[in-house]
Amino acid sequence: MHDHQVCINHAMQMAKSVCKRNKQELTPLRQAVLKLIWNSHQPVTAYQILADLSKKRKMVAPPTVYRTLEFLEKNGLIHKIESLKAFIGCSHPDQNHGSVFLICRKCNYVQEELDMHGQSNIDKIVNKNIFLPQSYVIEVIGFCKSCH
Ligand SMILES: [Zn+2]
Ligand SMILES: [Zn+2]
Ligand SMILES: [Zn+2]
Repeated sequence: MHDHQVCINHAMQMAKSVCKRNKQELTPLRQAVLKLIWNSHQPVTAYQILADLSKKRKMVAPPTVYRTLEFLEKNGLIHKIESLKAFIGCSHPDQNHGSVFLICRKCNYVQEELDMHGQSNIDKIVNKNIFLPQSYVIEVIGFCKSCH
């Protein structure tokens, strides 16, 4: 276990500086959604976010939530885990990076490992195909340290 409040504080701090750098506004709604996602290290779906948000505020329209998620994703503050159709907070939004997600099937814990250039085979694969990558995500499904 770890002190998750530290993770949350770090994430919110990073979000502020990233938005400032990108000249974007971190509105109260954007902050609220980001905080909900950082509630744990388990990915959350748009539907869960919508439900949680509606408990705290008056009705929030689904398109508003989708737009907010899009904003957070575009600014690198969250990642979408395609295989789960869910979102997870990024702890390194200030760095351009590829990600390897280790996704536990049992407890849903998702760990993000940064995959900096040269470490994985991705560079070779994209070069071979003369493909210009913008970002990439590798999702590894299995069992975490405490579950296997
Ligand atoms: Zn944490
Ligand atoms: Zn990341
Ligand atoms: Zn696990």
